[in-house]
Amino acid sequence: MHPCLPGGDLSVYWHQPYPNRADSDPNGIRIAPTLTPMSLPMSLTPMSPMTRPAKIVCVGRNYVDHAKELGNEMPSEPLLFLKPTSSIIAAGQPIRLPAVSKRVEFEGEIGVVIGNPLCDASEEEAKAAIRGVVAANDVTARDLQKSDSQWTRGKGFDTFCPVGNEIPAPAGLQGLTVVTRVNGEERQRGRVAEMAFSIPMILAYISRVMTLEPGDLVLTGTPAGVGKLVAGDEVEVEVTGSPDVQGSPTASSRVRNPVQDR
Ligand code: MG
Repeated sequence: MHPCLPGGDLSVYWHQPYPNRADSDPNGIRIAPTLTPMSLPMSLTPMSPMTRPAKIVCVGRNYVDHAKELGNEMPSEPLLFLKPTSSIIAAGQPIRLPAVSKRVEFEGEIGVVIGNPLCDASEEEAKAAIRGVVAANDVTARDLQKSDSQWTRGKGFDTFCPVGNEIPAPAGLQGLTVVTRVNGEERQRGRVAEMAFSIPMILAYISRVMTLEPGDLVLTGTPAGVGKLVAGDEVEVEVTGSPDVQGSPTASSRVRNPVQDR
């Protein structure tokens, strides 16, 4: 069984700033560092849509058509990777193209924001722990992703994770749609119903590997239609709920960013 974090009562670790910042509990067991929400860098703060999450967990190849367009087999279980939280930018901030890559691509995705700790969770528990939904762009240096055996570099450059405003978690996740537009032209459209692995399944799966903490962001994969970005482009990702979304029936999250050379 996945041991979760030591100490049993996770709330101890989540809700108390550590009075003395010791890295071990009274029994000498190493504990997680303080999870007090961190601030984004000052330069990003005014437009930041969210406090910086503790981690961004991503799923690769969750739509069959996208796996096909890149010539990949569909995985038999969710393919997980991480993006650094330093890659987050808000709407309006530029995606900067690193000179070392010759092919940076957009990947519009439905982002899920975690509301309650999840560890060894069932799919039902996972669904209930969703706090909200955001539009996100899993910007990828495709050439580096292919040439490196790990995806850290290809996925991890600064500005490679634009994140939009958070909308309420929908009652019916199946109605969510993600659309990507480049210079106003629609390039991607995907629905949750087309995913190989459902959102609750993905969250439960991740929670068997690592504890998901409040505020963590999970990117659920991109549909077919990914393509290259060049300086001067403007890329927008929009996530919209169906009319059964709680709150506004037209709730949508949107993140639009200009693209610049670094
Ligand atoms: Mg992706």
